[in-house]
Amino acid sequence: MKGNTGTILRVDLNSGDIHRETIPEEWYLKYIGGSGLAAKYFWERGDFDAGATDPEAMLMIMNGPMAGLKMSGASRFSIAGRSPLTGHWGDSSCGGYFAPELRYAGYDGIVVSGRAEKPCLLLVEDANARLLDATEYWGLGIDTVHRELKARFGPGYRDLIIGPAGENRVGFAAIISENHHTFGRAGFGAVMGSKNLKAVVAKASNRKMAMVDPEGFKRVRREINLKLKESITADVLRQHGTAANLEGSMFKGDVPIRNFTSNFNEEMGGTLTGDALTAKYLTKKHACAFCSVGCKRIIEIKEGPFHISEGPGPEYETIVSFGSLMDSSDLAAACKAGRVCNDLGMDTISAGSTIAWAMEAFEQGDLTLQDTGGVPLNWADLATVIDVVLPMIARREGRLGALLADGSARAAATIGKGMDYTTHSKGMEAPMHDPRGGGHGLALTYAVSPRGACHVADPMLFMEMGACYWPEIGFEYELMPCTDENKPEAAVVSVAMGGIENSACICNFVDGDFSIPNWVDLFNTVAGYNWTASDMMTAGRRVFFIKRLINHKYGLTADDDRLTPRLLEPARDGEPEGIKIEFDAMKSKFYSLIGFDETLGIPGPESLVSADMKEEAQAVWTQNL
Ligand code: SF4
Repeated sequence: MKGNTGTILRVDLNSGDIHRETIPEEWYLKYIGGSGLAAKYFWERGDFDAGATDPEAMLMIMNGPMAGLKMSGASRFSIAGRSPLTGHWGDSSCGGYFAPELRYAGYDGIVVSGRAEKPCLLLVEDANARLLDATEYWGLGIDTVHRELKARFGPGYRDLIIGPAGENRVGFAAIISENHHTFGRAGFGAVMGSKNLKAVVAKASNRKMAMVDPEGFKRVRREINLKLKESITADVLRQHGTAANLEGSMFKGDVPIRNFTSNFNEEMGGTLTGDALTAKYLTKKHACAFCSVGCKRIIEIKEGPFHISEGPGPEYETIVSFGSLMDSSDLAAACKAGRVCNDLGMDTISAGSTIAWAMEAFEQGDLTLQDTGGVPLNWADLATVIDVVLPMIARREGRLGALLADGSARAAATIGKGMDYTTHSKGMEAPMHDPRGGGHGLALTYAVSPRGACHVADPMLFMEMGACYWPEIGFEYELMPCTDENKPEAAVVSVAMGGIENSACICNFVDGDFSIPNWVDLFNTVAGYNWTASDMMTAGRRVFFIKRLINHKYGLTADDDRLTPRLLEPARDGEPEGIKIEFDAMKSKFYSLIGFDETLGIPGPESLVSADMKEEAQAVWTQNL
C-alpha cells in the first residue's frame, strides 16, 4: 500500500547489526502506524520479560502514513515500548522535522534493541545507516549536542537527542528533536540512555513520497486549509501559542493550582497566560514542518534572575507545571524551568508534578530536610527548583535526586507517605487539565488510557470543550464539562478517535478542525485504505484494544483504571467547588459499552472479534477461561 514505505530499520546495538525489515501489509491495514503499529509490532515481537531499561527492551520510533505530507499537523510521530516510569505500555508523540525526513529516507520507523558497549549515535542517510562513536557527547546537555551535530553534519540533518536525565535513566527522561520538539511522556529518554544511544540523526536526499490519489489528497488538503484559515482555535494558537487561553481555562477550573488543591486563582490566570508570554518574551513564532498554525514559541528573557538567551519557549503544560502547580505566578521562572528541563532532557509535566508533590510533602512534614539532604522545598521557590532540584533529579544526585528521579508515585511508595496527594494514574502524572473543572470525562479517559493519565491519548479534552461534532459516527452530544452525563458514551468514541490520531500521527491542535469525511478521505487518498467511517472507527478501537492487551500481559487489571484521591476530591477553593465526580459509575458504564471484562479490564472475546482481532482473542482468552 502507498503512504507507508513498508520498511523499518532494525538496529541491534549488541551486535551492531542494522538491517531493513518489511512490515506485513495487514499490520498497516489493521493498526495504521505510529503508536498503533508500534503496539502491534511489540505484541508480535516484543520481549515481555524484559525490564524497560534492559538491553532486550525495544525502543520503537514509528511514523504514520501521513508523515512527509505537505500538510498542517502531519509531521508528528511516535515513540513506544515499555515505559520506565510506569513499567507497562507507554507511547509518546512529538512534532518537528524528523518524521518527514525519516519518511523521505525510505523508512516508516526504527526499532532499536540491545545495548552498545560505549555511547553511540545512529546516522541514517537514505539506504545507509551506521553507528558512530558518541563518547564526546555523553554527559552534555541537549542544546550543546544539537549545535555540535548541526555543525558536524549540516542544517538539513534532523536529530533526536537525550540529555543527562536520559543517560542517568530518570523515569521521566525525554527525547528532544531539533532542540525544541519533545517526546516528553513515559520516560523513553531513559530507554535510549540505557542503550548508550545518545542521538539519532537522519537525512534524506529527496523529498518525494508516493500516494494513491494525489489529486484527491490535494482536494481534501484544500478543504482542511480553508477550515484552518477560518478557525478561531488555529488563530488563537498562532497568535499566543498553546497557553493562549490560560485565563479562560482558569475561570473554567481547568488549571491546577498548588498540587491540585485548587483550580482558581485570578492573578495567575493573568500573569501566566500566552498573551503575557507574547507581550513580554516572544521573539519569533515557530512551527513544525509544513504547519500553517505554528503554535511553537521562540523566546528571550533579557534580564532578571530568570534570564535566558533566545531559544525554545514553553508550552501551556510547562507554564502550568512550573507555575500555578507550584503556587507561583512567575512566568519568567516557568520559562527558565522549561528551558532547563529541555536541556537536561526531562518531561516538564512529570518533573513539575513530582516536585509539586514534594513541596506538599515538605509542607505536611512527610518529607523533612533530612530526607531532602538539606534542600528546602517551599511553594513558589522556583530559584531552588531551577538551580538545585532539577539538576539533582537529572543526575540522580543526593537523597533528593534519587528520591524524585522515578516520579511521584514511586517517591511516595519509597517514603511510605503522601500517596493520597499524588496526582497520577497507572504511575504517570496527570497533565495540567483538572478533570474536576476541565471536564469529568477527562477523569474517565485519564484512568482508562493505556499509558496512564494523559490528555492527548484521545480527544476528550476537546470534546468537552464542545470543539467536536461528528454526526457520521454518532457523536452528536453537547457535553457539559462539570457533569458525568454522557461521558461514558463520549469516552467510547474518544478512545477510538485517539487510536486514529496517534496512529495516523496527526497533531490534535490541527485535527480538531477535521470532519470525519476529511479523516476518511485522507486515509483513502494517501494510503488507499478504502475505508468507510465505520471501518476507520473500528481500526481506532482496535489500536486502543491492543494496548490494553499488552498491559494485561504486564499484569494490569481493571483495578488499575483509577485516579488518586486528590484528583477526585472537590477542589478546595476553586470553581466549580463541590461538584462530585461519580467515577465508579462512569467507569462501569464505559466498561459495559465498550465490552470490557469488569475484573480483567480487557475487551471480552466478542469485542475483540468484532474488532477483527480473532487471534488476539484466542491468545488472551484461552489463557483466562
Ligand atoms: S499546531 Fe503546533 S504542535 Fe501542531 S503541528 Fe502545528 S506547530 Fe506543530
